[in-house]
Amino acid sequence: MEPILIEMEKTKQIELKSCPICKSALKKVEIERKGIVLNGYKCSKCNEIFFPSDEVFKYEILSGKRKMARKIGKVGHSIVIRIPNTIAKELGIGKGDVAYFEKRGNEIKIRIISE
Ligand SMILES: [Zn+2]
Repeated sequence: MEPILIEMEKTKQIELKSCPICKSALKKVEIERKGIVLNGYKCSKCNEIFFPSDEVFKYEILSGKRKMARKIGKVGHSIVIRIPNTIAKELGIGKGDVAYFEKRGNEIKIRIISE
């Protein structure tokens, strides 16, 4: 049986330097939306608030708008990532299967080998 491959990529924080509207300096601010703290930037001149795309993505995940997102946990010294059930079912991934990890630059490739 062919192993199932899963690719993971870690996104990078993007820093905004100046206001896209008036080009003035931006100040880092923490904004709370529905109990979720987001890191944004506020323009010192026009008071417009901007959020980097990864913060918008974080908000969508934590507010439940993205169904395929899972929070990463920790058990002992290991990091635990849960595979959404729909994906596990479709690919036939189950208990006892072995996940083999390969680091590729900023990505992780996971090879699932079924028993
Ligand atoms: Zn501005």
